[in-house]
Amino acid sequence: MSATDKEIVALDWLYQEIILDHYKRPRNFGTLENADAVAEEENPYCGDHIIVHLKTDGERITEIRFAGRGCAISQASASMMTEKVKGMRLDEALKFAEDFRQMMRGEKPFPPEGELEDLDALRGVREFPVRVKCATLAWELLQRTLAQVLGAKKGES
Ligand code: ZN
Repeated sequence: MSATDKEIVALDWLYQEIILDHYKRPRNFGTLENADAVAEEENPYCGDHIIVHLKTDGERITEIRFAGRGCAISQASASMMTEKVKGMRLDEALKFAEDFRQMMRGEKPFPPEGELEDLDALRGVREFPVRVKCATLAWELLQRTLAQVLGAKKGES
């Protein structure tokens, strides 16, 4: 565990386990050839770097991958994000990403424990304001890739 992940040990042990599991075995890790949208961003405060590749059928997310490096919170959140939104309708995914960012910033309450499955593990990160950006980075990128796809769709009609 890197020094930047010291906050993780302050989290509930079950949440630590979930975050570290996604960090060590990231889901949907990699890139996509012929992606419909790509977005990349750096979190200078922590050195996190994430790139998201998105593929859709025009209605739903059919494939999503992320690649990058950084702290366990940033990489685990990205892994959880890909798992959560794969197969979701584009408008639903866009709304969920915005809701989740608001939850992490404390502007919206988290739903009852268990409802968000693995994402629930990130609720404790709200207590460390400097790390909230780590947890929201992948979700910002999801929003950017969706905006690219939805913008292009609008241009068609
Ligand atoms: Zn970070």
